[in-house]
Amino acid sequence: MRVTLCKELRFEAAHLLPRVPEGHKCRRLHGHSYRVEIEVEGEVDPETGWLLDYAEIGQAFSPLHAALDHRYLNEVEGLENPTSENLARWIWERLARVLPLAAVRVAETCTSSCTYRGEE
Ligand SMILES: [Zn+2]
Repeated sequence: MRVTLCKELRFEAAHLLPRVPEGHKCRRLHGHSYRVEIEVEGEVDPETGWLLDYAEIGQAFSPLHAALDHRYLNEVEGLENPTSENLARWIWERLARVLPLAAVRVAETCTSSCTYRGEE
């Protein structure tokens, strides 16, 4: 049986987008309560009845949380232009080594999100 699991994680951070046009509101320093959804995919272990422990996703994200939470994202290496798109890829690149990732979703607001599935 093949399944997809999703775990939601959160962090707070500040950023600005240096490449948007002059006068765009995102060029001003501001903050978000970021919501990150990590999707993993694979075969259910017939013995345990699960794909993996949701806690494993939280543990894998823990060092990323430390690097992002209450930070100015533009100062984080690799996030000099911290759009949702670049942040989703940044998270993907770090979690793909340790989890069977299917998607990383980053939401800056309640109504907008970006999903990355590891494709260039
Ligand atoms: Zn923003």
